[in-house]
Formats: sequence, C-alpha cells, structure tokens
Amino acid sequence: MANPSKEFLVIGLGRFGGGLAGTLVGMGHDVLGVDADQKQVQALSGLLTHVVEADSTSEEAMRQLGAADFGTAVVAIGTDLEASILTTSVLVDLGVPKIVAKAVTEPHGRILERVGAHRVVFPERDMGIRVAHSLAGSILDYFQLDPGFALVETVAPKELVGKTLAEAEVRRRYGITVVCIKPEGGSFTYATPETAVREGDVLVVAGETRRAESFGELPTSVRPSP
Ligand code: ATP
Repeated sequence: MANPSKEFLVIGLGRFGGGLAGTLVGMGHDVLGVDADQKQVQALSGLLTHVVEADSTSEEAMRQLGAADFGTAVVAIGTDLEASILTTSVLVDLGVPKIVAKAVTEPHGRILERVGAHRVVFPERDMGIRVAHSLAGSILDYFQLDPGFALVETVAPKELVGKTLAEAEVRRRYGITVVCIKPEGGSFTYATPETAVREGDVLVVAGETRRAESFGELPTSVRPSP
C-alpha cells in the first residue's frame, strides 16, 4: 500500500458509516467499505473505492481483506452491540494502528475503549447536544472542543451592531474570541479588531463553554432561521 495513512476501512455502511465513507471519498481518500448486508453493499458500490460483503466479526474474513494494512479503521456498527464489540476486538488483534468506533450508549463506549478502540464517538448524543444548543437564543451551531471549551456559531447580538470588534471589547466584556464573521449572503472571513459588525452577520466565537453559550444567547435584532 503506497500511502497507508490515506487508506480507510469503514465497517458498517448504515447512515453513519455510509455518510462517513462517502465524505472520505469526496475528500480524495481511498476507502474500503465492508457490510454484511448485500443491499448496503450494492447501495454504496460505485460511491466508494471498494465495497465488500463480509462479516466483520470473523477474524479470518478481516485478515483476507487485508484489514491489518489499513492506517485507520472505523467501526460504524451501532445497534448490534455484539458485532460492534467483536469487530473492534478483531481489528485490535490484527494490529490496526487507529481504530475509531461508534457507540450508542456510555456503557457501550466504555466497553469499546476497554477492548482497545483508540477513539470512541457518540454521533447521536453529540448531535442531540448540538441541536439543543441551536434551539437556544440565536445559536446556529455548536461544537464542544473540550468539556469546558466550545465554538459557537451565532447571529450578531444587537449590542455589537455598528461597532468594530475592538470597540465592542468582546474579549474583555464577554470573555470570548470572535474567530470569523460572515455578512448576510456572503462568505466567512477572519475577524480582526477592525472588523465592523452589521445586522444579520453570523459570528463564530470560541471561548469557555458558559461564556460562549451566554454570548450566543444575547438578544439580536434578526431572528435566526429555525
Ligand atoms: P446507522 O444509524 O448508521 O444507520 P445503526 O446504528 O442502526 O446504523 P447497525 O444497523 O447496527 O447500526 O449497523 C450499521 C451497518 O452495519 C448495517 O448496514 C449492518 O448491515 C452492518 N453490520 C452489522 N453487523 C455487521 C457485521 N457483523 N459485519 C459487517 N457489517 C455489519
């Protein structure tokens, strides 16, 4: 394999695995998709670099597919806990250097970590958190970088409109940093102290979770779309 770090093995081609695999291909990576269900394999063939019908809980089947040669494997099986855990342990035994596994519950996640997954993701839980934040105030999107630190996308609060970021003293008064800004109908640009805020602008801010959330909940003169 010429460049193993560019090679991805995605096991389980449901909504999460299929979307993830298709995105990796769109980014220019080679992806081998594996699913036990022929229908899923057919649906994804043509979209991914390679798609194979196989039972990923079988060490022999995974060995034959050359699973050990991949830089990264993603276990995107959720509902079938046994298959998710067995598949992860097979990949650990084969020595795959980076294994990312999807969990549906916290105990499931803990087991995947114990078995040896290098990273466990909780797509449903994380999406619930993001959507909850988008329902509060003018927050459009929310991304938790750490339990105590977040990135928030929000409509410009009324009290900033007509001021530059320096004049508004956003760091001192709100404890956040404006990372980038987008005018209505325009595109994002980096924010500088001279950047002037206009009504309807969208801001991406970084800061301590509580402070970034509070900033996103300040009143605006424009209603964000739901
Ligand atoms: P999603 O929400 O991503 O659609 P899910 O969380 O409901 O999926 P599952 O339905 O358990 O997860 O699995 C996703 C995919 O994994 C399915 O297409 C299923 O056929 C496949 N899969 C399940 N078990 C195995 C296995 N042992 N080997 C290979 N693929 C499997």
